[in-house]
Amino acid sequence: MSEIHGWAAHGAKQKLEPFTYNAGPLGLEEVEIAVEYCGLCHSDLSILNNDWGLSRYPVIPGHEAVGRIVAAGDHVKGLQIGQRVGVGWSVDSCMHCHECMTGHHNLCPEVGATIIGHHGGFADRLRAHWAWTFPLPDALDISSAGPLLCGGITVFAPLLVHGVKPTDRVGVVGIGGLGHLALKFANAWGCEVTAFTSSVSKTEELQRLGAHRVVSSRNSAEILAAANSLDFLLITVNIPLDWSALLKTLRPNGRMHVVGAVLEPMPIPAFDLIMSQKSVSGSPTGGPAAISAMLDFAARHGIVPQVEHFPLSKVNDAIEHLAAGKARYRVVLDVA
Ligand code: NAP
Ligand code: ZN
Repeated sequence: MSEIHGWAAHGAKQKLEPFTYNAGPLGLEEVEIAVEYCGLCHSDLSILNNDWGLSRYPVIPGHEAVGRIVAAGDHVKGLQIGQRVGVGWSVDSCMHCHECMTGHHNLCPEVGATIIGHHGGFADRLRAHWAWTFPLPDALDISSAGPLLCGGITVFAPLLVHGVKPTDRVGVVGIGGLGHLALKFANAWGCEVTAFTSSVSKTEELQRLGAHRVVSSRNSAEILAAANSLDFLLITVNIPLDWSALLKTLRPNGRMHVVGAVLEPMPIPAFDLIMSQKSVSGSPTGGPAAISAMLDFAARHGIVPQVEHFPLSKVNDAIEHLAAGKARYRVVLDVA
C-alpha cells in the first residue's frame, strides 16, 4: 500500500509529470485516503512556481482533496475505513501546543502543509492526521465539495473569528476560487454583500453568486464612491490594489481582513485607522472545529462551489487555465 502514484513538478515553473513515491509505513495517527476529486487553488500555483520561497521539490500539488479512507493507523480516532472525507491545506499539527489545545491548530508553529515537504492530492492516495481529516456531510456533492476544504474555510473562518453579524455589510475583493465562496457564505450569513472585481463583465454572474452590489476593484473613483459603507472587507487578491481607497470603504470600527497572499508590503494610512478606529488583519485557513462548522453550514445552506472539471491527466492544462485567470470559479481535477 505504500507506493503512491501522482503528478509532480521537479522544479519551479516546470510542468507536472507522472511521479511515483514510496510513502513508507502508515503513521499510527494517520489515515490513507483514495482520492476521488481534488480542487486546484491559487496556492498550488504559488508553490509550483516557488513564489513564496517555501517549495520543496518534487511537489505533488493538490490540497482540496475528497475521497474514501482505505487505511487507518492503530491510534486513529473517530474515523472508519470506507468513510468519505476531505483534506485541506494542513495535514497535521503538534496536538499539544497552546494553539492546538485551544482549538486553533491552524496557528500551531509545527502545522504541516499538505503540499510543502509532503505530497498532495493530485495522486491516487493521500495521507493525513486523523484530526485534519474531515467526514463530509451526506448532503454535500462530492464532485464539487473539495474547494470547501481550502477556499471555503479560508473565507468562512474570518466570519466566525471576527464575529461578523447578519446585519453587517461585507465586501469581497477578487472573485475567483476564494472570492466566489465568500460571496456565497456572506450572503447565506445574512449580510449585505459587495463584490469588488477587476472583471465587471462578470456582474450578473456575481449577483447570482450572492453579491447585492458590484464595484470595480481597479477604479479608485468607483471604490471611493462606496466610501463609509462596509463593516468587513475581505481581500482575496494576491496583487497590489488601491489599499488606501479600499480602506475608506469601511465604516468606523470596520475591519479589512487579508487572506490573499499579496507579496508586496501594503501601505496602510495610519490616520484612517486612528480616526475611524479601523483594524487590519489576516488569517491562514482555519482550525478543525471551524472546518467542521463550515462543512455543516455549507450543507445546511446549499453552498456549492461552482467548479469546472479536468481529468488528472490534463492537470497541466488545468494549471494554465487557472494561471490565465479563466477558472469559473474553481477547477477540480477528477482523480479516480
Ligand atoms: P484565484 O481563483 O486565482 O482568484 C484570484 C482573483 O483575484 C481573480 O479571480 C481575480 O478576481 C482577482 N485578480 C487576479 N488578478 C488580478 C489583477 N491583476 N487585478 C485585480 N484583480 C485580480 O485565486 P484563489 O485560489 O481564490 O486564491 C486567492 C489568493 O488567496 C491567493 O494568493 C492564494 O494563495 C491565497 N490563499 C490564501 C489562503 C489563506 O489561508 N490565507 C488560503 C487559500 C488561498 P476578479 O476577476 O473578480 O478581479
Ligand atoms: Zn488553497
